[in-house]
Amino acid sequence: MSKAYSGFIVTALRLGASGLVALALLLAGGQVTAGGAGAGILVIALVAAVLAQLMRRQRNQAVETTAVAEIEEASEAVVRLSAQLGALRKDKAEAERGHRAVLDLLPDPLILIDRDHAIRLINRAARGLFGDAAPGRPLASVLRHPEVLESVDAVILGEEAETEIELSLPVPVARELTCSIAAFERPLPGGVVAALVFRDHTQSKRVERMRADFVANASHEIRTPLAALGGYIETLLGPAKDDAVARARFLTTMAAQVERMTRLVNDLLSLSRVELTEHTPPDDPVSLPVVLRRVVQSLEFRAQAKDCKVEIVLPDGLPAVIGDEGELEQIFTNLIDNAIKYGRQGGVVRIEARLIDHVPARSGWTGESRPVSIAITDQGPGIAREHLPRLTERFYRVDAARSRDLGGTGLGLAIVKHIVNRHRGALTIDSTVGVGTVFTIYLPARS
Ligand code: ADP
Repeated sequence: MSKAYSGFIVTALRLGASGLVALALLLAGGQVTAGGAGAGILVIALVAAVLAQLMRRQRNQAVETTAVAEIEEASEAVVRLSAQLGALRKDKAEAERGHRAVLDLLPDPLILIDRDHAIRLINRAARGLFGDAAPGRPLASVLRHPEVLESVDAVILGEEAETEIELSLPVPVARELTCSIAAFERPLPGGVVAALVFRDHTQSKRVERMRADFVANASHEIRTPLAALGGYIETLLGPAKDDAVARARFLTTMAAQVERMTRLVNDLLSLSRVELTEHTPPDDPVSLPVVLRRVVQSLEFRAQAKDCKVEIVLPDGLPAVIGDEGELEQIFTNLIDNAIKYGRQGGVVRIEARLIDHVPARSGWTGESRPVSIAITDQGPGIAREHLPRLTERFYRVDAARSRDLGGTGLGLAIVKHIVNRHRGALTIDSTVGVGTVFTIYLPARS
């Protein structure tokens, strides 16, 4: 084979099918002169061209098959990954929901903030205190307290590890709080860098104040008659030593002072006794007519002194109430005594008991059995509306001097309120200035 022919074949193989066909046609057309050998070369070239085409197609097919398999594999992997990503996102959302639910269960208000003082989370207790705040709202928009905001800055900047601030919130309801501010060592997811936790001391501070007021009031009440007694004794030992008339007068006054102190001590003891048992309601049946008649009889002397008529109105078949006879006697003694004491000279005090269907909602009655109401009405000067909510506080008096003159301790209605609470009953006070006052007690009837 000449050099030219082998060159054709190599070229044909390189050019592929179309090149080979073109070359073969050239040869056949005599462009390349070669006689019989030319025809043989043409056949060889054509066979070579066909072979080359077949090889290429096979190679292409193999490449295509591999590529398709790879693409399929890759797309399966993508589907798998996106499913895993979806599951991860769901887990994350679930975890966040869980964290939020746990923080919502905390009784203490909690706010989590980021570096820019934007709120990232505010739990339920904090929402109750400051109102709801969407994530991203500035802390200053819910808590306008310069000292807290400055401390937050100091904690975030690392100037202080953590700090505690006492604050009073005047609105919507006056509150006494302690706010603890602490930064996290590293930011939490969501960019949270610090937490503010609040503790509400409103109730304990109120109780503390009440206790201090009570001790101060009780001491004051006892000190006054004691000082008077001291003065009289001094006078009797000194200037009035030989004055029989003055001695008799002073001793009468001294006896009144001792009586006042005794009443006060007795009332204080009653109050503390009722407070101790307040959580265990009594369960004896008590006959109201028996108790009311006994109380009225014991106060007859006082009623006569004021020319006061005491009426008892009792329907037939009034059921017994559930209670403690001694304590119910004390309630009615205090209320009827007040009605006589503060009532009109020559007036009427009316005591009326009834089985009723409903207790007024304002009374706070929570009992399930049917109630019996006992209303004590007087024709006294009445009580101005602004005093009514405070009347059952210890030592609260509308007119302290008048109460003391009349032998009052300022504890009678406080005792009534505690006994009523122990009986799971209710008390309402209605008064019209210039007309009179009605104290109504509601007690559970025995079914
Ligand atoms: P006190 O020993 O002073 O009577 P209470 O606790 O029984 O104490 O009553 C508190 C105050 O309520 C009294 O000081 C009086 O100002 C007022 N009060 C109570 N009952 C009546 C009433 N029936 N009419 C007018 N004021 C009353």
